[in-house]
Amino acid sequence: MSIDRMTAPGLLGLDSFTVDEEKAHIVVNKEICAKCAEKPCLYVCPAVLYKLGKNGELTFDYAGCLECGTCRVMCKNKGIIKWEYPRGSFGVNFRCG
Ligand code: SF4
Ligand code: SF4
Repeated sequence: MSIDRMTAPGLLGLDSFTVDEEKAHIVVNKEICAKCAEKPCLYVCPAVLYKLGKNGELTFDYAGCLECGTCRVMCKNKGIIKWEYPRGSFGVNFRCG
């Protein structure tokens, strides 16, 4: 039996999300983030949800979050002022094929 190895984008593309439009489960403080020089969140989020806007400001959208918690661990400057799992029935649904 052989198993085809899938790429990370291919695997991520299988996931589905039920986004809670009324309550963000992760919130960042843009004023704190503006003073954060290293911005590790840009590099560690596997879903690439932390990005830089055209003026260099941090942008973040919790839709598409994989709920891994990596940003919470790596945010040393406390710019993430709220991190919790989505409410029941919301969030990511992992699929493996
Ligand atoms: S919990 Fe994981 S997937 Fe969600 S925003 Fe943080 S690093 Fe990205
Ligand atoms: S690591 Fe934390 S404080 Fe720094 S830019 Fe990212 S979310 Fe903001």
